[in-house]
Amino acid sequence: LDARSRFIARHPRSAELHSQARTVMPGGNTRSVLYYQPFPIAMDKGEGSTLWDIDGNEFVDLCGEYTAGLFGHSESRIHAAVHQAMTQGLNLAAVGRAEYEFANLICARFPSMELVRFTNSGTEANLLALTAARVHTGRDMILAFPGGYHGGVLLFTPQGPSPVTVPFPFLLADYNDTDSATAVIEQNRDRLAAVIVEPMLGSGGCIPAEISFLKALREATREAGALLIFDEVMTSRMSDGGLQKRLGINPDLTTLGKYMAGGMSFGAFGGRADVMSLFEGRLSHAGTFNNNVLSMAAGRVALGEIFTKEVAEELYVRGERLRTALNDRLTRLGVAMHFSGVGSVATAHYRAPTIRRPYSPTAQEEDLRELFFLDMVQTGFYLARRGMFALSLPVLQSDLDRFVDAVENFASTRRGVL
Ligand code: PLP
Repeated sequence: LDARSRFIARHPRSAELHSQARTVMPGGNTRSVLYYQPFPIAMDKGEGSTLWDIDGNEFVDLCGEYTAGLFGHSESRIHAAVHQAMTQGLNLAAVGRAEYEFANLICARFPSMELVRFTNSGTEANLLALTAARVHTGRDMILAFPGGYHGGVLLFTPQGPSPVTVPFPFLLADYNDTDSATAVIEQNRDRLAAVIVEPMLGSGGCIPAEISFLKALREATREAGALLIFDEVMTSRMSDGGLQKRLGINPDLTTLGKYMAGGMSFGAFGGRADVMSLFEGRLSHAGTFNNNVLSMAAGRVALGEIFTKEVAEELYVRGERLRTALNDRLTRLGVAMHFSGVGSVATAHYRAPTIRRPYSPTAQEEDLRELFFLDMVQTGFYLARRGMFALSLPVLQSDLDRFVDAVENFASTRRGVL
């Protein structure tokens, strides 16, 4: 209660904006992930890895726009590319050079992506990849995993599909449970079009897939004539060619999103040429903003000049070091709290390692999640309400060191309940 009262006292303008926004938007928002009690913080501006809210509070940005903010808020080359594109007209109703060059960069980095198409979001990318798989195989069923998140309408809670899941017929098997997944694939081989899986459950808690599990999915789908779709919307930052490159597994189709267009709206799906060729006449995929000039121009620079192979590797290593440092401190304290994740993305859990699949948090874990968020915000670190961080390139090592201290301080003052 104290933590909430302090939060309310520090964010009067955010509170006021929230009550105004609720008069025109249900819940006062258009992104469910940004809606939490008592009200979400409204940001005013960002620069590098710093954020300022509308009450003037300053934060180190560790949320990194849920992985889309990889470049921070003021990458000069991205700004220049977007400004240049703006001077040449926003809505040209035409294909363009940047679109081709951006696509070329993606295909060069992801060997499994022979052909690619752009969308406005990761959600659309997944809807289209699933559609392509169903048309290609002539089958209707999709296997997904509880805790998987593939976009606003493709949400699977730990208990199963959410009420907003689109009416594709879905089968479910437990994440990281090879026997259950391969049995479902085998039993449904006549109807199964695709298996869609995040190689690390992102919003499901940053839970990495075991390599043996993904390899088994690769083999079983191949044998059953179904397609394997890697949703790399969140994990594509784990190397220049995504987590698939790090793991050495090639899916049939891959979906992308988040940071790749330098922070502009973005999604893409692609993969085997024989599947993607469906879009050469047989399947339609229109979309006014699919190749919008701002995303195409920013993406070409983001991948071509900034997020190079070396930079991707450095960020991955920085993230691994940070997670190790956090977990070392927590282990030393002897508390049931740890961070799971891969590379530069991780989530806090209030139970002992290791977590292999998503779970519904207990009431106490829910309370700890809220307390952790409020405590971090109070200390000047903005992260996702669920306790997830995603590093951006400009984040300072000194801020990450302070974050490790702040987490240790949180855990040691809550020792009694952890
Ligand atoms: N897939 C995964 C793994 C995601 O994490 C997300 C977004 O968080 C999506 C798909 C949906 O992407 P978008 O928010 O761009 O629609």
